[in-house]
Amino acid sequence: MAPMEENVVVSNLELEKLFSMKGGKGEASYANNSQAQAIHAKSMIHFLRETLDKVKLGGGGGGGGGGDKAFVVADLGCSCGSNTINVVNVIINHINKRYEALGCNPPEFSAYFSDLPSNDFNTLFQLLPPLANGVSMEECLAADNQRSYFVAGVPGSFYRRLFPARSVDVFHSAFSLHWLSKIPESVLDKKSIAYNKGKVFIHGANESTANAYKRQFKTDLASFLSARSVEMKREGSMFLVCLGRTSVDPTEQGGAGVLFGTHFQDAWDDLVQEGLISSTKRDNFNIPVYAPSMQDFKEVVEANGSFVINKLEVFKGGSPLVLNKPDDANEVGRALANSCRTVCGVLVDAHIGDNLSEELFLRVERRATNRAKELLEKLQFFHIVASLSFSQ
Ligand code: SAH
Repeated sequence: MAPMEENVVVSNLELEKLFSMKGGKGEASYANNSQAQAIHAKSMIHFLRETLDKVKLGGGGGGGGGGDKAFVVADLGCSCGSNTINVVNVIINHINKRYEALGCNPPEFSAYFSDLPSNDFNTLFQLLPPLANGVSMEECLAADNQRSYFVAGVPGSFYRRLFPARSVDVFHSAFSLHWLSKIPESVLDKKSIAYNKGKVFIHGANESTANAYKRQFKTDLASFLSARSVEMKREGSMFLVCLGRTSVDPTEQGGAGVLFGTHFQDAWDDLVQEGLISSTKRDNFNIPVYAPSMQDFKEVVEANGSFVINKLEVFKGGSPLVLNKPDDANEVGRALANSCRTVCGVLVDAHIGDNLSEELFLRVERRATNRAKELLEKLQFFHIVASLSFSQ
């Protein structure tokens, strides 16, 4: 294959328009590669319930639900698959039970599924159970195949405003806030000390590159919080989970570092060494992910000043690979390649085209298969879990 220099380069401006998890229902789709997220979400469900208990119900004056106002839940970075539907169900069931415990009639519920515009909303909408009409809330909640809430899809970046002021009771976002809005300019500037030479991620990169990512994460999270501080009802609550790290050093990216900084990195180097792409082409590709430390996260929430932190933890989620036979190296290799492709395949395709992308992920798979045992030991995800509500 001849070297291809003139492939599409994803500019920062386009990232927001183009980015999504792999849609559809195929082998590398998010719908088929998000069981690990489902398992990790389940293990954190007690934190979610604690957050939901912080929501003040009823209360008049535009308060959370009751009367003729709908109770509004928004899932930000919903992607496409059953995880978002399941979590919305958990939230609505829990709030409904709280109303019952108070001896009140529950309000109607409405759920917003929000993600970037390229998200496969069509597949997501097809997965939704039908809305139960003329069925009581109790009957509906008891039946798995019916939906007890109204739905809308909301396309747009969660780093900006998405909803009218004071309109949402519960914000939920899982496994999404580690995605930066863009690659910092200095990381792409050959003349800058933050230029990420030789690398496609910040794991093991130089300090300046990692610090540029850190600043971008903090700017993005600050924008997220200021948008939500307008949109959330005063009585509302917010539950956020994203990839995190235990190390203070941002060049040590934990599970994300293993996912994007080892076999994936080596596969890019293979393409360069085999003459399929230039080293500049590789260096211009960067994964827009930053796994923050608890301190990084806390500093942004505190600087924003709108929210109190009810809970902030680094939680061990476990492996992002769900395997039938963990001893089968081929399965491990394939699972890692699929996992990687699900989350960043769209970006790779746009950077080097579909054919070279295919070559790249074949090499990821081969390399991961050869180091399957070691990979399974090292690939562990930690998550930042945050529960926020308004300061009084
Ligand atoms: N919450 C889901 C999916 C997580 S995948 C689950 O628990 O399984 C992460 C999602 O975040 C992707 O769908 C991605 O498109 C979305 N995302 C990343 N950056 C975003 C942004 N700036 N605005 C909205 N969504 C974003």
